[in-house]
Amino acid sequence: TREIQLASRPHGEPTQDNFALAEVALPDPQPGEIAVRNLAMSVDPYMRGRMNDAPSYAPPWQLGEAARGGAIGEVTASQSPDVAVGSLVLHDRGWREHAVLPASEAFVVPRRDGLSPTLYLGALGMPGRTAYVGLFRIAAFQPGDTVFVSAAAGAVGSMVGQLAKLSGAARVIGSAGSQDKIDFLLNDLGFDAAFNYHDGPAARLLAQAAPDGIDVYFDNVGGEQLEAAIGAMKLHGRIAVCGQISGYNASSPQPGPRNLGLFVSRRLAMKGFLVFEHDDLADEFTQQVSGWLTEGKIKTRETVVDGLDQAVDAFIGMLRGANTGKMIITL
Ligand code: NDP
Repeated sequence: TREIQLASRPHGEPTQDNFALAEVALPDPQPGEIAVRNLAMSVDPYMRGRMNDAPSYAPPWQLGEAARGGAIGEVTASQSPDVAVGSLVLHDRGWREHAVLPASEAFVVPRRDGLSPTLYLGALGMPGRTAYVGLFRIAAFQPGDTVFVSAAAGAVGSMVGQLAKLSGAARVIGSAGSQDKIDFLLNDLGFDAAFNYHDGPAARLLAQAAPDGIDVYFDNVGGEQLEAAIGAMKLHGRIAVCGQISGYNASSPQPGPRNLGLFVSRRLAMKGFLVFEHDDLADEFTQQVSGWLTEGKIKTRETVVDGLDQAVDAFIGMLRGANTGKMIITL
């Protein structure tokens, strides 16, 4: 079977040379283990951090070993009473076609009528849960709020905007990196306003899109758009710091916002979070979002690439904005 290994650590933007496609033998599952045929795998921004040899919340990938990450697959052999052959499982042995792993590290997911299993890597999975936690718990969203989200056409951002609209937001504004993405936000997802952050200074574009200011900023990118959002905040505004993708390939820390004084005058709050520390919201999230997906109230788009040999390009492409909605690799 084939897997993708980390071959070297990147400086700046990752390249193909940082990865190697390897043919390896698949062991038989031992007692307590299952064998899985992966159907699809995820590439996510946080994986850029796992390429560095620095301690972080997700352990670094090791040189010469298969990379790891979210995947969904079908159980082909089981040595565990808890997981039956044929089950659909979510697990962290992505970047490979087959995996053998302890059954205790796989999460059996229901096959839901009409909903694609790849949703467990996106809207119904970690990115969707991130949107839910960040909007409702961290940013303490209230009906009537005006919400701005960056990387709005991506996996997390597209969910933030829709959850806010469905929950009574007064106005939802998104930013993204291309006209196609802006059209997607306005025409498919029901955003009230959207701008391409390449079209000028973010502060001006945001002021045009949100003339009365914003109550909530869901930050996926940091940098210039964070400063613009702080400038647009209303009194008692809240910022959920989810990610800072504009700096992930930077080799030295990026300059911070220059307008932090506004935190005092406008009594603002800003808080970072990690989705996996909020598992207590998982059931509520799954029930709510699977319902909205089934009813067609939440729309999803995926950018799907086929084949393990395309996974590295898909990863590098996702970091550059090649995806609309969730970037998925089918295997
Ligand atoms: P996306 O699907 O949004 O893909 C990443 C997107 O980032 C690209 O499509 C691109 O879109 C945008 N982007 C890339 N470079 C820049 C830049 N310099 N400035 C602005 N936008 C840029 O990824 P996810 O939805 O999976 O993740 C979104 C954010 O959420 C990331 O920051 C990620 O690290 C964070 N995250 C945090 C979690 C947590 O627990 N805190 C959990 C999961 C995700 P465009 O064309 O618009 O530029």
